Amino acid sequence: MTLSILYRGPLSSCNYSCGYCPFAKTKDSRKTLEADAASLMRFVEFVRQHTHIRFKILFTPWGEALIRKHYQEAMVNLSLLPNVEKVAVQTNLSCQLGWLKKADTEKIALWTTYHPNETDRAAFLEKCRKLDEMQVAYSVGVVGFKDVITEIQELRALLPVGKYLWVNALKKQADYYTAEETATLMGIDPYVANNMIYHESYGKACKTGHTVISVDGEGNMYRCHFIKEKIGNIYEADFTANLFPRNCTNKTCGCHIGYVHLEDLQLYDLYQGRELERIAMR
Ligand code: SF4
Ligand code: SF4
Repeated sequence: MTLSILYRGPLSSCNYSCGYCPFAKTKDSRKTLEADAASLMRFVEFVRQHTHIRFKILFTPWGEALIRKHYQEAMVNLSLLPNVEKVAVQTNLSCQLGWLKKADTEKIALWTTYHPNETDRAAFLEKCRKLDEMQVAYSVGVVGFKDVITEIQELRALLPVGKYLWVNALKKQADYYTAEETATLMGIDPYVANNMIYHESYGKACKTGHTVISVDGEGNMYRCHFIKEKIGNIYEADFTANLFPRNCTNKTCGCHIGYVHLEDLQLYDLYQGRELERIAMR
């Protein structure tokens, strides 16, 4: 069997200070970082031992993980395991990239987010260039606040042709974008329409809880990050018994890491195996 795991441990700190984010410039205590590292090591060991399962892993930390050595080491170690198909992470790309040389870069993928108010565009693009040089797969994304639309256009123009740039649309306010702004965003990210709405998901088939699960630092399993009903624990021997096809019990689903697994949207056809790191393949 192949199992995708969205892992989120106790870490919840970040070196950036995005105004809209609860993790901006927060610091984890030494104790929390040690607990996070221990949880992560246990998870890596779990993957190593389950040789009969093929794993696709996405780290979706609160905060920034790749500035922490234990995440860099976990990514390297997981990438070298024969039963791991892919190990990906959401990151602001502020980390150094030398650690990637130790990894099987064919299995590494980065979901990078550019934060225009937190980093210099040239510095971000230089990191992208290095990833290209190292042949590491990555997507680039930006949160689509109105005041950065021009910046996103400029970033698009400077990224290599064919490099997918996704935009996370602001959608709490129905008329947030003008028609012209929507058209501009669609010109940048041809698939942004998928992210401009909350998908009606109640009662619809979703791969989460069957071939995709969310796991916390203690190994507790949830079908996804958005439904907080525990469905087991990966550190229990029979954890796969709890994996079966299910319908969504939430009214809507508005994040890529969730709705990409909704069966009726058929987005796996678009991402062709790169749904975790959000690289559209058309
Ligand atoms: S980089 Fe991400 S985690 Fe860090 S403050 Fe910005 S939005 Fe939050
Ligand atoms: S549609 Fe979204 S909220 Fe519903 S089960 Fe799937 S991932 Fe979870």
